[in-house]
Amino acid sequence: MKALALFSGGLDSSLAIRLVQEQGIEVIALNFVSHFFGGKDERADNMAKQLGIKLEYIDFSKIHTELVKNPPSGRGKNMNPCIDCHALMFEKAGELLEKYGASFLISGEVLGQRPMSQNFSSLNRVKKLSGANLTDLIVRPLSAKLLPITKPEELGWLDRDKLMNLEGRSRKPQFELVEKWGLVEYPSPGGGCMLTEPNYSKRLKVLEEDGFLEDKYSFLFHLAQRGRFFRVEPGKYIFVGREKEDNLKLSELKKYGSLYIAGAGTPGPAIVGYGDLNQEQIKLAQDLFSRYSKGKGKEKIQIVMNEKIVEIEKVNLERLGEDIKKYLVLL
Ligand code: SF4
Repeated sequence: MKALALFSGGLDSSLAIRLVQEQGIEVIALNFVSHFFGGKDERADNMAKQLGIKLEYIDFSKIHTELVKNPPSGRGKNMNPCIDCHALMFEKAGELLEKYGASFLISGEVLGQRPMSQNFSSLNRVKKLSGANLTDLIVRPLSAKLLPITKPEELGWLDRDKLMNLEGRSRKPQFELVEKWGLVEYPSPGGGCMLTEPNYSKRLKVLEEDGFLEDKYSFLFHLAQRGRFFRVEPGKYIFVGREKEDNLKLSELKKYGSLYIAGAGTPGPAIVGYGDLNQEQIKLAQDLFSRYSKGKGKEKIQIVMNEKIVEIEKVNLERLGEDIKKYLVLL
């Protein structure tokens, strides 16, 4: 008997898998990859090793972006369309049952853990949305005893008595299980979905307002995930790295921008400009480089701008401070 698990890389999905493994069922973990979560992650890999499971990555970013843009069941507190997102994962996982020779699906959802998306009616709605033929095949092992009986329990594939009755937001029972099973270095409880981050959601909202919440603009979702994000005009942005990883990411994505600035002698951030920036906006990007460089805007420096060396004067820091306040979308 095999089951497919939705494996976000979070603690709850790991525990749900372990609970089902305890009943002698082989579990294959599916990590769904979108522009906002999922994908290769050291901690998730490590947890998969501890659980002794095969981990498969399923890229559904294109169809998922559609859902973020237009979620039939609405969004949560931030940009997260959790109900539809879960339903879509179940639907896609359901399509893979045959391929993996698995008989049912499991997830780490806990009744009442998230007031909007994991209450009784939402869990039910997720089941319904995922497709009629799957309705009976979705098991939530951590809360199963509080939910209607499913086909795997009815047919004795799973012993309902050995499943759990977790409810609510407390994580205490989960940490007890972690201890009991000796799991170490488990991933963060939330699984790291950017759509639940209030500040990232603000940035994404800006992109949505400017008409960029489309898969073909997904590079903007990634550019906005790190560093400083300045919206100098609707549809025109300046992205400024804050640390080494940001700079690497920006340099990877520079081909999508109209402007790329890096240091020439004076260390400083990588900067990507997006859109048809005017002279004033280009000057702002140069000043931002200078301000966040080692020179802190207080001296004349050289930069590399679109592969040409450019000299920039000392910055009027007071004026720049006002521009920063005006254009910065916080993260
Ligand atoms: S938290 Fe993110 S990954 Fe999880 S269901 Fe919500 S939108 Fe999807």
